[in-house]
Amino acid sequence: MNNQKKILIVGAGPAGLTAGYILAENGYKVEIIEQNSKYVGGISRTEEFKGFRFDIGGHRFFSKSKEINLLWEKILPKNFRTRDRKSRIFFNKNFFNYPLDLIEVIFKLGIIESAICFFSFLKAKIFPIKKPKSYHDWIYNNFGERLYLNFFKSYTEKVWGLSCDDISADWAAQRIKGLNFKEIIFQSIKKIFFKKNKKKIIKTLINQFKYPDYGPGMMWEAARDKIIDNGSKIEMAVKAIKYLYNKTEKKWHVTIQNKNNDEKVIISDIVICSAPMRDVGMAIYPQLKCLEDVKKLNYRDYITVAVLIDQKKIIDDNWIYIHEEKVKAGRIQNYTAWSSLMAPSTEKSCLGLEYFCNKNDKFWNNSDSDLKKIALEDLKLLKIIDINHIIDFFVVRQEKAYPVYDDNYKDIVEKVSNEIENDYNNFYLVGRNGMHKYNNQDHSMMTSILTVENIIYNKAYNRWNVNEDAQYHESDNISKERALTLDSLRFVPKTKN
Ligand SMILES: Cc1cc2nc3c(=O)[nH]c(=O)nc-3n(C[C@H](O)[C@H](O)[C@H](O)COP(=O)(O)OP(=O)(O)OC[C@H]3O[C@@H](n4cnc5c(N)ncnc54)[C@H](O)[C@@H]3O)c2cc1C
Repeated sequence: MNNQKKILIVGAGPAGLTAGYILAENGYKVEIIEQNSKYVGGISRTEEFKGFRFDIGGHRFFSKSKEINLLWEKILPKNFRTRDRKSRIFFNKNFFNYPLDLIEVIFKLGIIESAICFFSFLKAKIFPIKKPKSYHDWIYNNFGERLYLNFFKSYTEKVWGLSCDDISADWAAQRIKGLNFKEIIFQSIKKIFFKKNKKKIIKTLINQFKYPDYGPGMMWEAARDKIIDNGSKIEMAVKAIKYLYNKTEKKWHVTIQNKNNDEKVIISDIVICSAPMRDVGMAIYPQLKCLEDVKKLNYRDYITVAVLIDQKKIIDDNWIYIHEEKVKAGRIQNYTAWSSLMAPSTEKSCLGLEYFCNKNDKFWNNSDSDLKKIALEDLKLLKIIDINHIIDFFVVRQEKAYPVYDDNYKDIVEKVSNEIENDYNNFYLVGRNGMHKYNNQDHSMMTSILTVENIIYNKAYNRWNVNEDAQYHESDNISKERALTLDSLRFVPKTKN
């Protein structure tokens, strides 16, 4: 494609910045607008307060795609550290390793409760739910009712604010695929068997991931700098509020608004948009036929209360799931276990208590000082740190952290994507909320990579096929097509047969 065409990118999160990075590297001059006044990186940003840093939840850099790994290394060549994952569940005043370890579960739950769990699993295997529709059904089939009650129900309901009967089985299939009770038993037996050969166990049982020295924001700040060095523009504190398609001109007139509420129209040939599908669908003109449907898409919002501590890191876990109902936090991030540089010195550390809520519900409307009190109460119940060492708290709110997978979402997403692809030209929804998909960074980035390849090389990759395993649609044959060298990231054009 001729690189004089004007391309507007909405959002400077992983999806928007990936699109911008590749286009700018290929000689395109793009304009990126970002509503946040300070940080790039979107949900993958790293916020800073008094020299301490925190993610919006810990952000693992893990991808099955070699191409994404190469792109990460290319953007941030010197600043990755490799981490062994450690995470536990806090339940019934006990910590359980996660993924669950059979011996530990028996030991900590006791013989009677463990036997009940086992027979409940057997019952589920003999009488499975034929067509599992809900999260509850899916977990019942794979673990049995008792383990569901002990280890899945409470955390999941905290995250979604919905009963597990109202959460789609898709979510479980996507997030905990490959893990079931049989697998836990198998892994635990293997662990006993290979007890003497610890190295072998670690290789197979411990997940590893990469993490930038100063958190995920470091990656996206580096991408931003490279985009600007290549002559493109990123405007902060600017929000897209209306997308008008002029059919005669074949151009998009996008109204943007700055923090003083001044408005301006940008005329663009192409729009790559990572803003949430619901916001975008309601702001497209001529209006979508499925406007009433798009309004029904739901999101889950999120607050993290960061805790600044005047003491070395006390626990090794990267994060802890909280299944205890009395504790309001759903999970705790231990940022200094991800990277010691997340605190200003090795003598200090920081945690993040994560709360899942809906914007404007009672919890969201708590003042920052009330949230700090809630976090303090939770820490007292958890007893993982000496609260006398707390220096300060810092509250971070994240709207639309999770696109909700409820009964309607699939049909709505299909309607919206079909309508936008077929009835309007050159408007590409990308990324997590843009496509209303529970994407991690790598998936969000891949949707942009495919979009950009379609634009530059006139390819026909279907980004809606990027799935949760980052195994891109077989028929596109994308992963096989690419040479696994850094040069392949320059996208030497390949013609389609
Ligand atoms: C708690 C939590 C933990 C996570 N952990 C991981 C993890 O361990 N590993 C991992 O890979 N991923 C993780 N993720 C997912 C990861 O955060 C997302 O996949 C990624 O940030 C999505 O990138 P994106 O660019 O599609 O969207 P976003 O990150 O949402 O970025 C979109 C950007 O667009 C901007 N924007 C929105 N609307 C407008 C508008 N109208 N005008 C201008 N700008 C706009 C937003 O401000 C934002 O900066 C996690 C997510 C959460 C919530």
